[in-house]
Amino acid sequence: MASEGQMRSDHLTPEARAENAAMLAAALGLNVTEAAEALSFDVAVTVDPADNVASTIATEFVQIFRRTVRSIETNGNYNASCLEVVIGNVASRSDLKKLFVSVAGRQVTIGDSQTEMRCPQMPHIFSVLVACYACAAALQRALDGRLPFNMASQLVIPLDEFGVNEKSFNAPVNIEKAYLAGAGAIGNGFLWAARYIDIHGEIYVADDDVVSPGNLNRQIWFTKEDLDEPKADRLVLHAQPFFQNLKLIPRRKRLQDLREDGPWLRRLIVAVDSRRARREIQNEFPGEVFDASTTDIREVVVHHHKQVTEHACLSCIYEADPEETSREAHIAEHLGVSVAEVRQERISDQAANQIAQHIPKLDKRAIVGIAYDTLFKQLCGEGELKSLEGRRIVAPFAFVSVLAGALLVLEVVRNLGAGVSRKDHNYWRVSPWHPPLRRRQQLRPKQSGCEFCGNSTLTQINLKLWL
Ligand SMILES: [Zn+2]
Repeated sequence: MASEGQMRSDHLTPEARAENAAMLAAALGLNVTEAAEALSFDVAVTVDPADNVASTIATEFVQIFRRTVRSIETNGNYNASCLEVVIGNVASRSDLKKLFVSVAGRQVTIGDSQTEMRCPQMPHIFSVLVACYACAAALQRALDGRLPFNMASQLVIPLDEFGVNEKSFNAPVNIEKAYLAGAGAIGNGFLWAARYIDIHGEIYVADDDVVSPGNLNRQIWFTKEDLDEPKADRLVLHAQPFFQNLKLIPRRKRLQDLREDGPWLRRLIVAVDSRRARREIQNEFPGEVFDASTTDIREVVVHHHKQVTEHACLSCIYEADPEETSREAHIAEHLGVSVAEVRQERISDQAANQIAQHIPKLDKRAIVGIAYDTLFKQLCGEGELKSLEGRRIVAPFAFVSVLAGALLVLEVVRNLGAGVSRKDHNYWRVSPWHPPLRRRQQLRPKQSGCEFCGNSTLTQINLKLWL
């Protein structure tokens, strides 16, 4: 299906395309119409079907990048495309702009020149990572280098820089019992990449939201068939067939609302969509935390800690910052509700009344229970809140969220896998536009103003649970 033939983007809803345009508009300083036009391009992929490694990268690349561009086709018609992406050692087939993706030895190169050898074997999960970097490079090339990321013309990615012992990829990884908080973009990306690892155990997937049309640009497992259905159920439905030894169990609640007594949250994968939600989750006393987040399309943050720790907790890493506070104030002001309401994250019955009075074209019944960010993004997309140009909440492209999910899987493998992996950090910032750099790994200390670590009641309970 994905290896040959055309992948038109009618799998994207108008809302999903609008999300992509809003993201590009914010990155390039364009208006949304110009950005939508800039994203209306087709991509051709050339790959040797007999080269398994190259074919897997190509399949991943097509499935991820079609969430962003108009259409993408493998070994097909090159006439309508603006860019040919040549994966592995195969002759290019057009006079189009080119991007070459090659694997040689222990490194991947993405850029102007091709390595003339068949791709050697590598752990399968790297095909997802390579595809994500190839999407970034392909987007930059299709836009003639206009994205403000100073990307090298040849991206060289040493696979060892990800810091995971190769043995770990070939042995089972026992996650025992874990919870996944959030079945949105990063939660999707996590289970997407985890298909390539033999994970054993069970994961409870917690999310109270339903799939909305504006999610399809980045939530890689979801299609139009999933609209209005619970995210937790649909993610489990789609992902479960790919796991022999891992049982996925959906819970249609936010993680915070699943609360049980005692040390119930021994292992937690955090894929929620806000800093505030991460701080709330810290207050549930997770034992071991695997966390990834995105800063629009600029950066992915990966964080891990295990209690009892002398170092940063989730609330230390995701302290309230001025941008968050001012964004909440803007949303409150423009929707005509209090900041305290916005901090509840979901629109209450009473707040829906107030919003409908403030913005009469909104139907109260249609907005009860949805996230403030979601409503706000919709209004931005429709041009209702023009005064907030540049401040809008933007959703990253699919390849950024999938990269975050894949790095989260690597973090699980690094910590729970069979091989001994070097590990003396709890925080890593990774750019989709540049090679990963181990020197950007940090061991972040506790923050003096942390609302968890600075609260003696909470820290005493924490000690009791995990010491
Ligand atoms: Zn803390």
